[in-house]
Amino acid sequence: MKKLVLFDIDKTLIKHSDAHISAFSEALKKVYGIDSSIDVINYDGLTDQLIIIEVLKKNGLDDDTIKLKLKDCMKVMIDFFNKIVDNDPIILLDGVKKLLEELRKDNVLLGLVTGSLEPIAKSKLKKVSVDSYFKLGGFGSDDMDRTKLIKIAIKKAEDNFDFRFSDNVFLVGDTPRDIKAGKEARVKTIGVATGIYSKEDLEKSGADFVLENLKDKNRFLEIIYGNYKKENLV
Ligand SMILES: [Mg+2]
Repeated sequence: MKKLVLFDIDKTLIKHSDAHISAFSEALKKVYGIDSSIDVINYDGLTDQLIIIEVLKKNGLDDDTIKLKLKDCMKVMIDFFNKIVDNDPIILLDGVKKLLEELRKDNVLLGLVTGSLEPIAKSKLKKVSVDSYFKLGGFGSDDMDRTKLIKIAIKKAEDNFDFRFSDNVFLVGDTPRDIKAGKEARVKTIGVATGIYSKEDLEKSGADFVLENLKDKNRFLEIIYGNYKKENLV
């Protein structure tokens, strides 16, 4: 396989998941005794572990106290999420299914780089019937550092598929944090303005390519195959 495309999940492939957001509050209360929504921080693009840490810090907890129960907290999150996910109206973003289908047809290796804990990530994608497209991933349960998640995903591609990392990896995400991680991992970055950040925000963060959304599969394929012209942005 010659190319690897790594997708973020929330606000890149799907709108968002209420169950995932509720699972944080439930776990923070149960494990740390803290009654807090994650809305007290800007969590877009942060890994789940970092969201837990930052929200608890905002609520006055110190590092040692937080780290002691971090694993328990993730476990409670997963259990609670699994209990309520059936009633979670997760919505796949427009154009995603067609794009994934096209990339698979072209024999492009598809993976995930998401801050979500692995069981939660997989369950969200299963709910919208796109889980089978993704052959590997770096997940929020693997590490709290998004750059490392990209490296983990690339390693899995090299270990398990006929793939060698060169200039052939593309990272797709909706936040400057995705773009920053992609640049640190030395992959090509594609920003999509389907989250809270505009095309201008994503361009400013240094994305190699910026798209309004994933509806125009031909434009996406032009990026992957090196035929993309910058004037397409206008
Ligand atoms: Mg996202």
